[in-house]
Amino acid sequence: DPVLALEGVTKTYNKGKPGAVEVLRGVDLHVARGEVVALVAPSGAGKSTLLHIAGLLDTPDTGSVRIGGDEMVGLSDRRRTIVRRNDVGFVYQFHHLLPEFSAVENIVLPQLARGVSRAEAQIRALDLMARVGVAERADHRPAAMSGGEQQRVAFCRALANEPRLLLADEPTGNLDPETSDTVFEALMDLVRSTGLSALIATHNMALAARMDRVLRLDKGVLGAG
Ligand code: ADP
Ligand code: ADP
Repeated sequence: DPVLALEGVTKTYNKGKPGAVEVLRGVDLHVARGEVVALVAPSGAGKSTLLHIAGLLDTPDTGSVRIGGDEMVGLSDRRRTIVRRNDVGFVYQFHHLLPEFSAVENIVLPQLARGVSRAEAQIRALDLMARVGVAERADHRPAAMSGGEQQRVAFCRALANEPRLLLADEPTGNLDPETSDTVFEALMDLVRSTGLSALIATHNMALAARMDRVLRLDKGVLGAG
């Protein structure tokens, strides 16, 4: 089974009302185990909507969303939350780290919420941080770190609970071009070394070209990049 499979996914906001916006018109998308797929789309094309549906933060009007072969459409909110927590890691353009906690605590907390012991969570957090080169920032709060460092910590947090799927929305879009390249490289190394499957939205064609496959979202339909 693919790790992520969307079939015939449609989504219209304000359906049946004057302001209706047809965003997705029948999207089919598969991400295989260990595959890293780039999602390229002009602004407003429905990229965030697609990622939110894939990450179970939103539901399609019609179609199927399977994670690890299991159908997610029709599950209760409670069940969807469990799958989201256990199987999906999110990275956004902005880091969304908790400002009052240190970097390492930001990576430990989601693990504690899952019932991992503090000692184990700490070891895993520091290991992840070392792998993206921010171990020496463990005790710093987000505000005391550079943008690139904050994003690296956000990658570690996304991977803290060993998800099987990573969804990223412009993960380096907030950084200057030079920093963006090295931080993106760190993310790719981390994804490759864990064998994680990923769907990564980016406007940067050079970055997209480094992934296994490029998909283009245009007028609500997906095509090959
Ligand atoms: P992208 O991430 O590609 O910029 P989005 O998925 O955020 O695109 O949005 C696609 C379209 O749907 C845009 O025209 C946007 O204005 C519209 N849209 C997004 N969210 C909503 C919403 N909650 N209600 C109504 N329209 C929305
Ligand atoms: P945008 O693409 O509009 O800039 P962000 O990339 O900053 O938004 O991501 C914030 C989004 O995360 C919100 O749209 C929100 O719906 C979504 N979200 C809601 N709950 C969760 C959650 N539990 N984990 C991750 N993201 C969530």
